[in-house]
Amino acid sequence: MKAAVIAIGDEITSGQRLDTNSAWLSERLGELGIPVVVHLTAADELQPCTDVFRFAAEQADVVLATGGLGPTADDLTRDAIAAAANRELVLDEEVLAGIRQMFASRGRPMADRNQLQAMFPVGSVVIPNPHGTAPGVDLSATMGERAVRWIALPGVPVEMREMWEQTVAPSLVAYAGSGRAILHQRIKCFGLGESSCEQRIPELIQRGRNPRVGITVHRATITLRITAIGANRDDCRAAMQPTIDDIHAKLGDVVFGTEDEELQDVVVRELAARGESLAVCETDTQGVLAHWLCGADQAANADAFRGAVVCDSISAARPLTGSDVDDVTSAAGTLAMARALRVRLNTDYALAVGKFPASDLESFHIALATSSPGDDVVVERGLAGHPDIRVERSVKQALDLIRRRLLGLDLNG
Ligand code: ATP
Repeated sequence: MKAAVIAIGDEITSGQRLDTNSAWLSERLGELGIPVVVHLTAADELQPCTDVFRFAAEQADVVLATGGLGPTADDLTRDAIAAAANRELVLDEEVLAGIRQMFASRGRPMADRNQLQAMFPVGSVVIPNPHGTAPGVDLSATMGERAVRWIALPGVPVEMREMWEQTVAPSLVAYAGSGRAILHQRIKCFGLGESSCEQRIPELIQRGRNPRVGITVHRATITLRITAIGANRDDCRAAMQPTIDDIHAKLGDVVFGTEDEELQDVVVRELAARGESLAVCETDTQGVLAHWLCGADQAANADAFRGAVVCDSISAARPLTGSDVDDVTSAAGTLAMARALRVRLNTDYALAVGKFPASDLESFHIALATSSPGDDVVVERGLAGHPDIRVERSVKQALDLIRRRLLGLDLNG
């Protein structure tokens, strides 16, 4: 079985928005063992849209499109599929009632044009959209002798992804005949490069394996995405467990979490579990450390993160931290800043991220002050690597330092 992926919208063809939906869907299709043979993009115009749907169906057995399902006149995906498949568009009363209900629950009147979102090519199966007004379209038809399936999802990435996970992926697994259930799990790692990570688990990331393991890196965090296909979810879970155990055995404590978890969530939760608190001080990381900690695991965060000093210059930071240091490029200066802040904000820990050096070849310091000075620690970290992710990587290094301290792990990974 082969797939084609289509992105619809002027935003994409004009270059104003990057088509991340097609990339994401292609990766997911690959995980299901369904190769993608063509990507197509069309503006919000009926003829080009109809043409790409027809062309895609000539190339592939399943055509997946995103975008153009909204209620406005330039949302033409439904019309284009109907035209490509020679089907009428008909109103689905049940879907219309659902859209009305969604507007009512949000306390907003439904515009007449939203009725368009309840129009479907005859014979379509409706793909529910739990958090948006535009349901998806799933139409099976024939092109000459061949069976073709057209699937259209909204352009909004979070809606599209949820609908893929909940409805489309399980249905495609059954359709492809490769099993009846599919299960995913993401394992998050920090502190290794992508290639070192791959080198430690070469046999796990081989193509064609079940469970399949994909590896992606985003702003210095590595995600291993495990996909198991089996007769049912329990079988998938059982098939997945040895792979998960293997990953933990081979990558050890660089694994910090699963699914959407970030380092700050782990840190805040660990602090909360011990009834301990943290303050932070930063300059060149521009408040990102404080911002992430503010947004971390809300259930746990009430008392764990107590405050931050974010200053561009050390002289401005001095009265706020209560310190008298004038140099946070050195290890001693960075630690002195952390110690002063910890006392000032009366917390169990304080993290200070030192100023970045002028040259990429030099390093900066991260200090962790604790309630017992003998346990305080300063580490040196390099700035090398892509400048675009310098701030985020440094913040992650700081979070990883305290994560390692809280969990009793080797501080240098
Ligand atoms: P709705 O009208 O309900 O929002 P829709 O199916 O009509 O959904 P579009 O209007 O085409 O979707 O796109 C909605 C938003 O989703 C766009 O403004 C854009 O932010 C994002 N989006 C659309 N297509 C893509 C794409 N291919 N990749 C990434 N983002 C996209």
